[in-house]
Amino acid sequence: QQNTPIMPTPAWQHTGYQHIWMPYTQMQTAPLPVPVVGTDGVRLILADGRRVIDGLASWWSACHGYRHPHIEAAVERQLKTMPHVMFGGINHEPALRLAQRLAALLPGDLNRVFFSESGSVSVEVAMKMAAQYWLNRGVRGRTKFVSFLHAYHGDTITAMSVCDPVNGMHAHFRGFLPEQFNTDLPVDEESTAALDRLLGEHRDEIAAVILEPIVQGAGGMRFHPPETVTTIRRLCDAHDMLLIADEIATGFARTGTMFACEQADVVPDIMCVSKALTGGTMPMAATAATDRVFEAFLSDDPAHALMHGPTFMANPLACAAAHASLDLFEREPRLEQARAIETAIAEQLAPCRELPGVVDIRAKGAIGVIQVDQLRHVGWLRERFLEEGVWIRPFGDAIYITPSLVISPEDLSTLCAAMVMVVTQWS
Ligand code: PLP
Repeated sequence: QQNTPIMPTPAWQHTGYQHIWMPYTQMQTAPLPVPVVGTDGVRLILADGRRVIDGLASWWSACHGYRHPHIEAAVERQLKTMPHVMFGGINHEPALRLAQRLAALLPGDLNRVFFSESGSVSVEVAMKMAAQYWLNRGVRGRTKFVSFLHAYHGDTITAMSVCDPVNGMHAHFRGFLPEQFNTDLPVDEESTAALDRLLGEHRDEIAAVILEPIVQGAGGMRFHPPETVTTIRRLCDAHDMLLIADEIATGFARTGTMFACEQADVVPDIMCVSKALTGGTMPMAATAATDRVFEAFLSDDPAHALMHGPTFMANPLACAAAHASLDLFEREPRLEQARAIETAIAEQLAPCRELPGVVDIRAKGAIGVIQVDQLRHVGWLRERFLEEGVWIRPFGDAIYITPSLVISPEDLSTLCAAMVMVVTQWS
């Protein structure tokens, strides 16, 4: 199979595809990507003029739909004053006020915010913070991390090292990644005891535990109950470990609360957010630390400072977009919308629970998953979904949606019906 097109190929795709390098893609055989020329509300506008409902909100990020006028206006205003300046030795109001707003919104005393430009980098920063926290306190050797089966934390080297080593997408890099501990989530007595033992036995080596609370995303779209998060927090406290919450995907109402940690009433020591932070419009991420973590970096010794500083950190355009996005969370009922989406998804996916090949169906906030024993007819799936007027991209063993929180009940029904239709037709 050779890069088969899904529709008549526009000239820019025909010539440009010889030079682009696509993510997670076997460039020799993968079908040509779907050419997109615009966005509107919850729709992608395709090169052939079709307008399809985006079931993924651009990898969980476009929570208010595309081209929201309030975000557009804020970014336009900022573009005319100060699109970018370096952040070393310079401060600006958009970033400082955003840090203040986030500190007020995040759980507990996550009061210090470090900005970067992608989720993976915010995880790198979190891991550096955790490792250096111990060093700055005079404790050597605590440089390893504990992560969980089916975890996904990003594609940079250190972030890859805490992804699921077996089911994840980075298995062939294992040889040169830092060695970490990857274990089962504590969902029952046995796995809780195992985590307890692991943390006890390796206490002097471990800097922190890293977790995607409530929903594990790209590593399998798996959910766990709030009690699991509570147990992890309790064990971290018992063994004097830091807890990093990766809320890059779950943050900003996706799971039905502003942050997933809130469902367990847990405050992590460090939290990463990105994706919906700017309403999915600009690349931006934040790593927030509690007072205790931050205070470990205060010293007369310059070497105790956090040595990280991306060129585009705290980009003012991204800050303006994030402010506008937070305004929308304040003004509009996003939490209620996420919860209503959960109810609708659970109801509408229920009919395929008994179908052959279907392992599970589940809904949490604005996330819906049909887990299958194996994906079938991937090329056919892609065409069928587009024929039904939806953009859904199954991955691993999951056919899933993470739509915009402003999606209408009718558009949501179209998405769910398309998911049910494909598993009905292939079985
Ligand atoms: N962590 C989680 C939980 C994610 O879902 C993602 C992205 O999907 C990342 C980290 C990496 O973020 P980015 O793709 O912005 O580097």
